[in-house]
Amino acid sequence: MPIDCPALLHTLFEGSAEALIALDAERRITHWNSAAQQLFGYAAAEMLGQPLLALSPADRRRESQQLLTLPETEAAQPHRALLAGKNGRMVSVSLRTRPLPGHDGQAPGLLLFLRECGTSLDLQQSQQLQALVANSDDGIITKDLNGIITSWNPGAERLFGWLAEEIIGRPMRTLIPADRQHEEDHILKRLVAGEKIDHFETERLRKDGSTVFVSVTASPLRDAQGLVVGASKIARDIGVRLQAERVIHHHATVDPVTGLLNRRAFGERLREMLAQATSDGRRMALLMIDLDRFKAVNDTLGHHVGDLLLRQVGRRLRQVLREGDVIARQGGDEFTALLPQVGQPAEAMAVAQRISQALAEPFLIEGRRPAIGGSVGVAVFPDDGRSAELLMQHADEAMYGSKRAGGSRAARLSAAEQAAAQDRARLLADLQPAISQGQLRLVYQPVRRFADGSVLRSEALVRWAHPERGLLGPGLFIPLAEEAGLLNALGDWVFREATRQLADWRRRLNPRLQVSINLSPSQLRAGSDYFRGWSQHLRELALPPSALILEITEGMMVDDSRDTTHLLRRIREHGAQIAIDDFGTGYSSLSQLSRLDVQYLKVDQSFVRQMQAGERELALVEAVVSMAHKLGLQVVAEGVETPEQARLLQAMGCDYGQGYLYARPLPPEEFEHQIRAC
Ligand code: C2E
Ligand code: MG
Ligand code: MG
Repeated sequence: MPIDCPALLHTLFEGSAEALIALDAERRITHWNSAAQQLFGYAAAEMLGQPLLALSPADRRRESQQLLTLPETEAAQPHRALLAGKNGRMVSVSLRTRPLPGHDGQAPGLLLFLRECGTSLDLQQSQQLQALVANSDDGIITKDLNGIITSWNPGAERLFGWLAEEIIGRPMRTLIPADRQHEEDHILKRLVAGEKIDHFETERLRKDGSTVFVSVTASPLRDAQGLVVGASKIARDIGVRLQAERVIHHHATVDPVTGLLNRRAFGERLREMLAQATSDGRRMALLMIDLDRFKAVNDTLGHHVGDLLLRQVGRRLRQVLREGDVIARQGGDEFTALLPQVGQPAEAMAVAQRISQALAEPFLIEGRRPAIGGSVGVAVFPDDGRSAELLMQHADEAMYGSKRAGGSRAARLSAAEQAAAQDRARLLADLQPAISQGQLRLVYQPVRRFADGSVLRSEALVRWAHPERGLLGPGLFIPLAEEAGLLNALGDWVFREATRQLADWRRRLNPRLQVSINLSPSQLRAGSDYFRGWSQHLRELALPPSALILEITEGMMVDDSRDTTHLLRRIREHGAQIAIDDFGTGYSSLSQLSRLDVQYLKVDQSFVRQMQAGERELALVEAVVSMAHKLGLQVVAEGVETPEQARLLQAMGCDYGQGYLYARPLPPEEFEHQIRAC
């Protein structure tokens, strides 16, 4: 018996587990099976004759559009759609279509196969969410995996200038500036991998072509099976914040006088560019530029002219240097430049020379023509160092070299100079803890009276017992201590140790013993406060100040101001004696010394060494001795090494001799031994 075809069809239709809905050419519902009833909660009687749009959720433009544009032919891929069932129940479906041939000349219809997928949201909940989205100030957007925009809230309309109906269905790329298109690929890749992207700050295009700075947070959207099917994006306008940040950044990185980078920003750039040059295997150069005679301009023409001059220097540096070079002002009259790519070190030197030439040209500022110059130090990466610190140090040393050589020139350290500079840097680091860790020692060199060969006096000379390098002489570390600002602490230690030792010797050996100590310029500069503690200390040791001789060099009196003169008078009034050390190497006049009430002149060893009968030096020392005596000063000859020198000195009436002929500087025990033997 043939099977009743309509009955069979009816059974298949009603028995299908899939919801089946047939539509006519106007997209009105003509068939509605029981699975559809189960899915949406509507009985066939309620739905037949209704437009398909009846299943579209309120305020869901996208779903409505989708339903209106269902393909006429068999769809290759099932659609996804969020539809509304009875009582506001949201139904998420996967939807396939098949064309239905039209009867009796009617237009063809459509058969929909629907299967529930994903979770369904209660409409109330969904509406709450939608209200949140609609009222948010942030742009909230969803897109599918092809990067096509699928929803767009009013916040996004305000942010980007596109209305939802204009932009939905368009690619996300519409919003992305040409030079940032790669970002979208990157973001999509991460989203597909299930990653979330938090607060990604970037630039996006508005409809009118202007750009807007946004912070984007993007999260993958998944289906019920957990597969990523798209992404949601929240975009926040950060233009105002960025602008504020830029202003702050500008102040933190730019030198207000010249508009160049400041020291901090330069440090950052240097580190970045070093990392780059290291990975690219490139040579780069660091230039340290210090102006010559700037201080004089500032002092004579005023700070205003000084500032204008600094600005012009900045401009000249820009003219000499290239576009990609970095220029900064380190502070004061010091500038730095980075040349990110140099072929040979000689190239960097050529640039440095051009800079010093450019700065030697006269400037014209408010009718004045201040003449300055520039000393430039060059350090090349990697030849002269690989770290920022080392390059800065070498460029700095080289710059000082240029200055010492007269300024207005460029220099780079030789390998030997670099090694010495590094050695000094290491020693400097060791010196800081040396004082507190008791690594300093004093040695005592006897000072002998020619008249009777007696030794009642010694000069205390400092040594550093370095834990690895052994005993170091002051020539190696006094300049470092000065650089590190440790000289006053060191001098204080010398004073305390020498006077402690002297008090002990005077008690045990001879109450007439004296000791002389060397002062440095910075101690005199520190003024009377520094020495106040010293008188107190002498009282505590019951040492008369006259037991102490303070040695200062000529230079310390010549350059220094009235304050120094005043201070030396105070020291004299207290009873301590003053000796002028290394006499003959500076420019002081004997009459100046007498005014200062100095007791001793120590003739520098360079004269004593060259003293021979008939030589100029002999005549000179003789003249010094006789003039000093006329002014009431006593003379100590330094560096007496030979009996011949001793004889000549004695013959001319020199008062004291100090030198290897009699004794080298001795540790305290040995000095004590000598005194006892006398
Ligand atoms: P200075 O005060 O002129 O000390 C004399 C220097 O000549 C000492 O060198 C001494 O060892 C050396 N000398 C002594 N006799 C002879 C000799 O016959 N021939 C030769 N060639 N040299 C001789 P030293 O100890 O290396 O000290 C060098 C300088 O370091 C001192 O010159 C002094 O200016 C400074 N100095 C030493 N100790 C101190 C200190 O405690 N404080 C300060 N501020 N400076 C110090
Ligand atoms: Mg001395
Ligand atoms: Mg000396």
